[in-house]
Amino acid sequence: MPELLTEIRDQLAALQEQKLLRKRRIVDGPQGPLLDVEGRQYLAFCSNDYLGLANHPALRAAAQAGLDQYGVGASASALISGHTSVVEELELALAAFTGLPRALHFSTGYMANMGTIPALVGPGDIVFSDRLNHACLIDGARLSGAQFRVYPHADVARLEQLLAKSEHPRKLVVTDAVFSMDGDIAPLPELLALCEKYDAWLLVDDAHGFGVLGPQGRGSLAHFGLQSQRILYMGTLGKAAGVAGAFVAGDALLIEWLLQCARTYVFTTASPPMLASALLAAVRLMQEEDWRQQHLRTLIARLRSGLASLPWPLLPSETPVQALIVEDNQLALDLMAGLREQGIWVPAIRPPTVPKGTARLRISLSAAHSIEQVDQLVSALHALAENHADADSRRIARSI
Ligand code: PMP
Repeated sequence: MPELLTEIRDQLAALQEQKLLRKRRIVDGPQGPLLDVEGRQYLAFCSNDYLGLANHPALRAAAQAGLDQYGVGASASALISGHTSVVEELELALAAFTGLPRALHFSTGYMANMGTIPALVGPGDIVFSDRLNHACLIDGARLSGAQFRVYPHADVARLEQLLAKSEHPRKLVVTDAVFSMDGDIAPLPELLALCEKYDAWLLVDDAHGFGVLGPQGRGSLAHFGLQSQRILYMGTLGKAAGVAGAFVAGDALLIEWLLQCARTYVFTTASPPMLASALLAAVRLMQEEDWRQQHLRTLIARLRSGLASLPWPLLPSETPVQALIVEDNQLALDLMAGLREQGIWVPAIRPPTVPKGTARLRISLSAAHSIEQVDQLVSALHALAENHADADSRRIARSI
């Protein structure tokens, strides 16, 4: 066997040993609160389909109409011949919806960040990144060749010290707006104030806030009422919008620059146009039917009050991402397995995805969940907590 393959085989075996080998499960049928996984139906709290649009009839019909009009593939990059009228319309709709001058459509959020950061900064410049930022902000910053400085999570005072010391020609602060594993919201007004004070730029990754936060789900900037030429806003379209893709919005000159220079925009085949048709339907629904955001808020409050008396804390979060911190890796896996036995699917998240000692159940709520379904999860977790307490007291009794 070539040496590389033996090395990889050993590394995979080590992951397996540490129970860190990631496995996929095969899902049959559409996404929704009830998920068919490998022959069994589960009540699922694991998706980012926060508004329940991934299988909405209006989006399905729009995708079908887009399919009939444009066919399946875009067949070329946007700058060659892949920029269809429906994507142009989507970009205009997204700019209007978020209240920003211009938007550019990317194939995924990962690609949007990987293209945007290197288009803005390079060697000699500096990127400041929250410690809990998503992988694609970190990878985009590294790819840019700019110096990379991590500041402690949401620590505005520490960021200010770093900015004050920096003499780099271009300074870029990058942050998740809603942190994907904790669910808390970044202090965007304070971050923007610092960027203004120290002549820096702010890239806001609103993957988990677009469609959820702000009036009608217009996103985290609308949530705080922020507007500035210094902000580049990245929203993804595979989570609350229910489809796939992403967009970057901001000052028209910045967006024109990305169109010229963001390599993950320029050198990739444009997304299938029918996805843009479905996304236009999603943006329309967000504007016309904001009961989804309201229902989501009701579910969040219901879950939080229901779980308040558990022995494990929920991190503070007003978003659909709710993290129940159990600390111990094995306990997180046991709870996930216990829920699964009861037909409920909640993912356990462990290091290295989250910091050591903060293993958790990451509960994602969707407007497609009913109050009764949330109550079912709450009861199941209470039952598991009681079993866990009983097992603990038996262990203690044995050791006395
Ligand atoms: N940013 C954040 C904060 C995310 O959570 C994700 C997806 N998990 C992305 C970006 C990437 O978006 P996409 O899935 O569209 O590539």
